[in-house]
Amino acid sequence: MAGLSGVPIIILKEGSKRETGKDAQRKNILAAKAVAEAVRTTLGPKGMDKMLISGEEATVTNDGATILREMDIEHPVAKMIVEVAKAQDDEIGDGTTTAVIIAGKLLEKAEALLDQDVHPTVIVQGYKQAAACAQSVLAGMAIDVSGDDSALLKIAQTAMRGKGIEIAMDKLSQISVDAARAVAGFEGKDIEENVKTVLIPGGSIEDSSINYGIVVEKERTSLEMPKRIEKARVMLLEGTLELKKLDTDAKITINDAKNLATFKEGEEQVIKSQIDAIVKAGANVVFCEKGIGVTAQNYLARLGVLAARRVSREDLKMLALATGARLVGDVMTVTPRDLGSAALVEERKIAKDKHMIFVEGCEKAKAVSIILHGVSEQFLEEMERALDDALNVVLDVIRSGKIVPGGGAPEILVAERLRQYASTLQGREQLAIRAFADAVEAIPLTLAENAGFDPVDSLAALRASSGAGKQSFGLSIATGKPADMLAQGVVEPLKVKTQAIKSAAEAATMVLRVDDVIAAKQEEMKPKPGQSPHDYTMPQMPMPHY
Ligand code: ADP
Ligand code: MG
Repeated sequence: MAGLSGVPIIILKEGSKRETGKDAQRKNILAAKAVAEAVRTTLGPKGMDKMLISGEEATVTNDGATILREMDIEHPVAKMIVEVAKAQDDEIGDGTTTAVIIAGKLLEKAEALLDQDVHPTVIVQGYKQAAACAQSVLAGMAIDVSGDDSALLKIAQTAMRGKGIEIAMDKLSQISVDAARAVAGFEGKDIEENVKTVLIPGGSIEDSSINYGIVVEKERTSLEMPKRIEKARVMLLEGTLELKKLDTDAKITINDAKNLATFKEGEEQVIKSQIDAIVKAGANVVFCEKGIGVTAQNYLARLGVLAARRVSREDLKMLALATGARLVGDVMTVTPRDLGSAALVEERKIAKDKHMIFVEGCEKAKAVSIILHGVSEQFLEEMERALDDALNVVLDVIRSGKIVPGGGAPEILVAERLRQYASTLQGREQLAIRAFADAVEAIPLTLAENAGFDPVDSLAALRASSGAGKQSFGLSIATGKPADMLAQGVVEPLKVKTQAIKSAAEAATMVLRVDDVIAAKQEEMKPKPGQSPHDYTMPQMPMPHY
């Protein structure tokens, strides 16, 4: 048999694209760096904003997660870095820019090591060791603030600083602490399940407030209904109060006018008996998931019930948490125990032609609303994003009690300890661990740069003060010099830092393990449900353009 030697075996279709080894790695690193670069200038209290334009709409934001979400990113590796931001946002809700910057730097440093012929496996190994070490350094520097309310306010303010909402900061930090406190005991997965934010253009920021109840963006179904009900007994109905539409294959023969009348009366009777059941249970407010027909509206109004229809499921769930009501499926079975209570339910005018129903004064509310007033939609949206960061970090600290100083202090300490650790090692991993230390220091460096200081000078001064044992010293945004972050009230949840380093390291190692990029067939692109992104080979092509 003739040997195949010398004849290349072609396993890919002609025209398929493939990059292997260093080429693939380098291009992937380039893409990751580009993503980090896109958000770098927004980091910190002096960070710049980005304007994102989509068609006619423009969003001005400083929020890393938002920028990356809105950017139309195509490159598969760049997308992996965006995933870092998403993971960070889901886990803790703040620190997204930090995570992405560190991920980008880890890859940049890895590139230099690849140039020195350090094998990617060694880099990956070193990065893993460094990440683990960083976790314990961070845990070691954490401060317990359980039960300290002033720490919560500071946590909220650090999260919001630089988001372009400075004038609203005092108000918003207080609101976020109150709201987080109200829902903290409730083990919701996500703060969005327990806190509803309602944006109202117009009015002054000072009018923003927390409402221990839920604001429903609906009007009462009929003008005949009462507008205001004190000591409300609230019923939540998962269904309709409408005449049932007849099934298409149902047949009724009505042969004279009298019969038709009785038939209609019968149907009306059904609705009336449903409403009688509601009123008999003691309800004077009804939120209904589906429609409320005219007969029902009139009858409810006559009985003095305030009702709203087509209330979203999310709102119904939140109303249940706020008022203690249970969702009722079958109207006829409603009992007093299904109802919730609120001191007041009232429809109020918000703007011209716009009314909302305020359910408030709910004792033991497990869900609350935050009403934000602001001059423009854009400002309101940026306020909402800042508030969301603040709520998440405050909630984390109420639950965990653990904070660290901000302003780059933890990153400086982590870097210092990593270098010490590296010097105890023999192998090439120590190069990777040093690289990790440099990457983490990108945070104080970038904070200084974005605030207009010489980053190298600032970093040197920070290293010196940390070396002298001043663990809580970070970058003063006013002077560019080291200052005590605890004294300045610049503090962050421990988890923001641990998570940022963890997700950055995971993303970087994932990118480094790829040494072959093949343009796969379209169907093979997506990971199957339940499959981890580790399991699918990268090739979500089109191939990268640079
Ligand atoms: P991220 O998306 O990573 O949260 P931010 O733009 O919110 O990015 O910036 C967070 C960084 O800014 C943190 O390192 C935090 O400690 C720092 N920071 C916030 N306020 C101050 C301040 N007043 N002085 C110094 N650093 C600050
Ligand atoms: Mg932040």
